[in-house]
Amino acid sequence: MYFISIFYKQKKYQFIFCLLGLFLIYSNSVIYGQNGEHYVLKTLVIDPGHGGKDEGAPGKHSKEKDIALSISLKLGKLIEENLPEVNLIYTRKTDVFVPLDERADIANKNKANLFISIHLNSNKNTEAYGTETYAMGLHVTNGNLEVAKIENSAILYEEDYSTKYEGFDPNSSESYIIFTFLQNTFLEQSLNYASFIQNQFETRALRKSRGVKQAGFLVLWKTTMPSVLVEAGFLSNPNEEKFLMSDEGQDYIASAIFRAFKEYKQVIEEKSQFATKIESDKLNNSVSDSTINDSIVSFKVQLSSSKNPIDINSPFFKGVSPIEELKFDDTYKYTSGSFNSYNDILEYKKQLEEKFPDAFIIAIDKSGKQIPLNEAFKILNN
Ligand SMILES: [Zn+2]
Repeated sequence: MYFISIFYKQKKYQFIFCLLGLFLIYSNSVIYGQNGEHYVLKTLVIDPGHGGKDEGAPGKHSKEKDIALSISLKLGKLIEENLPEVNLIYTRKTDVFVPLDERADIANKNKANLFISIHLNSNKNTEAYGTETYAMGLHVTNGNLEVAKIENSAILYEEDYSTKYEGFDPNSSESYIIFTFLQNTFLEQSLNYASFIQNQFETRALRKSRGVKQAGFLVLWKTTMPSVLVEAGFLSNPNEEKFLMSDEGQDYIASAIFRAFKEYKQVIEEKSQFATKIESDKLNNSVSDSTINDSIVSFKVQLSSSKNPIDINSPFFKGVSPIEELKFDDTYKYTSGSFNSYNDILEYKKQLEEKFPDAFIIAIDKSGKQIPLNEAFKILNN
């Protein structure tokens, strides 16, 4: 009986890990595109919180559902006008009730690349004010199960999830293993976008930032893409309610979320291009890389030098890859290519000339020290 139970458990874990593996593969293909294609953020779902019989948090003069919808429509308009290539989908465009799981379904069915849920906060303490953006996930990323349970029973969690989400048992550790992993799949990107929003709220909309947070929101839990929930301010705070009810205030909030979206889209698309480039360069350079190790002298093309370090992923390098950073005394040198033959480096330099007309060849000895070219030739002749 004991063995049977061990076997059963192992099978179960095997199944779970298999599932986790599938999600890993899935998430990588989502970020970098299949077959090495560049990733393009095509579809965005905007989810105005609440609606219909669900009015959301009550303000003194306003309802959350109305302001959330108004900000969402303004955000959508900015995207339609400025990023017409984005396929924009709303979970609601009018004052209707939409269940939480249905909102996530809309995003999943449309294979959305990003999900933004827009809400307004409320607190018994009417002094509380400011903006928050949530990502679904756990604060502790190394997956401590007990911490996960505590995090997920946060007060912001809705009550009837166990009946709505068949198969999810909040007291079952195994449920939580998958739950944790699912969230971690998109956590980094969700947090990235959340931090862009909070940054724009502070700098663009001049709102107080209460920070990027994590909690167990059901509407985010069921989505299979990076997703955030924005709390754009407190309707319970009289000043903030006034701001959020105003056309200007809503414009500021929508504009901040829009700018963050543009920023996120750009970053994630560039990251994918860079990753694809590295992969192809790895293949192209594998032959020359393997011959360098035992050599006495190597030649490189120097593109730039600087007293301050430059990010090798920076657009400054115009897509040339790989870039190597060498530090000599107090100067950083940025080079590309590494060959033992002077003819090979000459050929390589020609390929870079269009982008870097002032590039030149340098020689590095066995110990990694830069040496004059004539000295390098002497070593090679010996
Ligand atoms: Zn809400």
